[in-house]
Amino acid sequence: MTDPAVSADARLVHTGTRRQPGEPVVQPPVLASILVSAGQPGADDYGRGGNATWAALEQALGEIEAADAVVFSSGQAASMALMLALARGGDTILLPRDGYYNARVLADRLRPHGAAPVLVDMQDLAAVETALAGPPGGAVLWAETPTNPLLRVADLAALGRLAADAAAPMIVDNTVATGLLQQPLDLGAVASLCSLTKSASGHSDVILGAVMTRDAALAEDLRSWRTLGGGIAGPVETWLAIRGLKTLPLRIERQSATALALAGHLAAHPRVHTVHYPGVRTGTLAIARAQMPRGFGPLLSFELDGTAADADAVIAAARLIVPATSFGGVDSTWERRGRWAGETAPESLIRLSVGIEPAEDLIADIDQALGRP
Ligand SMILES: *Cc1c(COP(=O)(O)O)cnc(C)c1O
Repeated sequence: MTDPAVSADARLVHTGTRRQPGEPVVQPPVLASILVSAGQPGADDYGRGGNATWAALEQALGEIEAADAVVFSSGQAASMALMLALARGGDTILLPRDGYYNARVLADRLRPHGAAPVLVDMQDLAAVETALAGPPGGAVLWAETPTNPLLRVADLAALGRLAADAAAPMIVDNTVATGLLQQPLDLGAVASLCSLTKSASGHSDVILGAVMTRDAALAEDLRSWRTLGGGIAGPVETWLAIRGLKTLPLRIERQSATALALAGHLAAHPRVHTVHYPGVRTGTLAIARAQMPRGFGPLLSFELDGTAADADAVIAAARLIVPATSFGGVDSTWERRGRWAGETAPESLIRLSVGIEPAEDLIADIDQALGRP
């Protein structure tokens, strides 16, 4: 369904509906590695080239960001294809110093085949401008906002202008906000990257990723990297993602409202010394409101007044919130980020992914887990 008179949220609900008598109302998973050939060899003959289930998911994702979507087997497979497509030998790839750890590691591993990673603070526009002007070859600006796990907000419109002035493609890792809350392609990005593993699928049951772009040549190139590299999505995973995506507006609006309430509650708690959430951080609140008009997302983090062991004890004391990594699921989860090797987050930082449980239940659980100061 692509009726432009109908809202993107409504179109999302009807993803895969064929409206033909006798056809299934929803897209079923197509479990076939080969299809009956039309005679000419084509992408549709063999399952590495395409699958009707991905096509329906790509259509749904395309509705959200008014773009062409290319689905991959994970967010990292999507990142790798983007880096290989855009960051060529001799180029520089500017990554946020506090962004997703595995993006930095991947860029570094791809150095012999791709670009040289350079870490910058994306809130420091002068530093970004200098870094973009620096390299003799080309540059790629790999932004992320809000960042994982510090939830720092970068000004996408300003970064987009700097990238355009430097003729550098801007990519935005939009995993935390999703296209529902933030539209990077309207703010100068050539590609919007999303790990569908998180909020987009939303039920902690799939690993998937996608790139959204309005650049037809880039979409084609990404599909070619996907077919040749084989980082394809499975039909069952994509079917689950379609199912999850239909309720993304409901989930993320509720999660954002609850996260904002919890951020306020935590900020007033005597055992908490800093809360990181776009909706309460005063320095970037105006930017966050402008580029995330529907909410600030399900993810927040806070620093405990205490040691790593104190934070571990709080996490273990929860009765409702699950000790687990990742984020964006219907079930609230939390973890001490510093337990991961290579993570630069403060030792006592707890990252909380707010689910769809009632806010009062989560507040009660947090209070009992934090205990008395
Ligand atoms: C999880 C995540 C990724 C990687 O996605 P996978 O699906 O785990 O491969 C990329 N960026 C961000 C911000 C993430 O949180």
